[in-house]
Amino acid sequence: MGGEYNAVQKTWQPDMVKVVLAFPDVYDIGMAHLGLQILYWRINECEDALCERTYMPWMDMYQLMIKEGVPLYSLESFHPIADFDVLGFTLQYELSYTNILHMLKRSGIPLRSKDRTNQEALVVGGGPCAFNPEPIADFFDVFVIGDGEEAIVDLVDLVRRAKDQGWTRQETLEQAATIPGFYIPSFYDVTYYPSGQIAGIAPNNSHALTRVQKRVVADLDQAFFPRNAIVPWIEPVHDRVMVEVMRGCGRGCRFCQAGFVYRPPRERDPLLLREQALDLIRGTGHEEVALTSLSSGDYSQIAPLVKSLMEDLGESRVSVALPSLRVDSFSVGLASEIQKVRKTGLTFAMEAGTERLRKVINKQVTEEDLLAAVAAAFDAGWFSIKLYFMLGLPTEGEEDLAGIVDIVKRVRKLGHERLGRQAGKLRIAVSVATFVPKAHTPFEFCAQDQPAVILDKQRYLKENLGIKGVKLSCHNVEQSVLEAVFARGDRRLSSVLEQAVTLGCLFDGWDEYFNYGLWEQAFGDCGLDMSFYANRSRDFDEVNPWDHIDSGVSKGFLIEEYKTALKVAHSPGCRDRCLRCGVCQELPATMRLVKGSAEK
Ligand code: SF4
Repeated sequence: MGGEYNAVQKTWQPDMVKVVLAFPDVYDIGMAHLGLQILYWRINECEDALCERTYMPWMDMYQLMIKEGVPLYSLESFHPIADFDVLGFTLQYELSYTNILHMLKRSGIPLRSKDRTNQEALVVGGGPCAFNPEPIADFFDVFVIGDGEEAIVDLVDLVRRAKDQGWTRQETLEQAATIPGFYIPSFYDVTYYPSGQIAGIAPNNSHALTRVQKRVVADLDQAFFPRNAIVPWIEPVHDRVMVEVMRGCGRGCRFCQAGFVYRPPRERDPLLLREQALDLIRGTGHEEVALTSLSSGDYSQIAPLVKSLMEDLGESRVSVALPSLRVDSFSVGLASEIQKVRKTGLTFAMEAGTERLRKVINKQVTEEDLLAAVAAAFDAGWFSIKLYFMLGLPTEGEEDLAGIVDIVKRVRKLGHERLGRQAGKLRIAVSVATFVPKAHTPFEFCAQDQPAVILDKQRYLKENLGIKGVKLSCHNVEQSVLEAVFARGDRRLSSVLEQAVTLGCLFDGWDEYFNYGLWEQAFGDCGLDMSFYANRSRDFDEVNPWDHIDSGVSKGFLIEEYKTALKVAHSPGCRDRCLRCGVCQELPATMRLVKGSAEK
């Protein structure tokens, strides 16, 4: 790995700001991550800065590196990570936290921010998990909250000034605290009640604000987006280029953290997207371009954009992919248009088994929508589809579980009717996750079901869905427990993380390496209880570990949304009616929808 086509190789000059971006999982997954690529190309646009990459080495390589005393290094110049000014981690999921600690250790950088000197790299984190960074607060010097493409330039500028003026680490952090969206965890003290709940979070440094508001890019058309991409040597999980059609999602599904923290919805101009896509294909030779966002089917100009791209790229056998579709036949129509060559799987996310529970979670999809979409898919030549559900959603009861079984059976029956003599080819994959209450959502107050309860629910599904043509897969409950612990955890969890790493935990998102027993031991050693974090509902007035991180969505709005959920009622999405969640009122950005055409 390293030395890939299009990788940026800059000559190291002593006065340059040197940044290494780290993805705390393997290369194959990290290379498919768009956010990291945007930052990589943005930093390398700066004449006096360079940016390289590093990933968590897979187990065999990692053990060999430990054995041979090889430090973690960058893929561009093979410099040890310790030689860089900034080590920036992208924080995509909680189960990568132990990998972060392993990467710090392998870099020779002290784990805790308080133990680092002027000589060590500034350790910076950003991404969705930075919206509750507290469980990893002690390991980071700075978190950047919110959109990164403008903030990263401020970071480079900060480090440049620190180098020029010979600032101490403390002086650098104090200056960082004055930049919008920059959160310096060591500048805050957290106090606790004997119950373990938080009594208060208060700044201990005059440069720190009481609340840190997220960064937001107001106009994506003006924002930086790379016109080139690194071509990996090996096939990553998604072997394609990506353009981001929109950021944010106005639908308001109440369990979805990304849907709240990346508000407001902002769309890119279709003509600009077309140019970006064509440049990326020309520059890389990839054979697929993905139109990414949280819900690409909602992009106002999706049909004309797809049509225009198909006209431009179809002849050269370049395909267009839509990774996130709505559950409706419009989406199936689009999918069949773009997948004439190769029919990849279609996924329909119903989330819950009954109309009632879908109202609770604000998922505005009916069973009729699903059946119409599935019928359209079978008619268009699909034999296999995937249905996605979640277990343990707030207020879930037996009838909701029965509803899942019922939906799957109705889809199967429909498949038999539509496919006729080819019904033997029908494959329905049913994927069932466990609900994880996330910070900054209306369900941040909710408890996760006890593991035994989830296991019972999984058992029920297994007993009732063992039918021909249906393949049920349920996510690992213990991994979901840990995810819930860290999603709403506080600073005391840093000691648990460190102990877990000492005991040997790493690659916790990978079934083959996840070891729940070690985690139980780490929690026991540190005198902390997983269920305190995962299985306890929280009062509206309880101080949450993330209350000083401001996503723009007000806590009052989240409480109202939660109450609406308990009344089994939908709320309109941003596109239908603005509920004044706080984002467009408090932040320097508002919803932006495009009206133009993708035609040349
Ligand atoms: S203020 Fe209104 S339009 Fe803006 S994100 Fe909130 S609900 Fe959506």
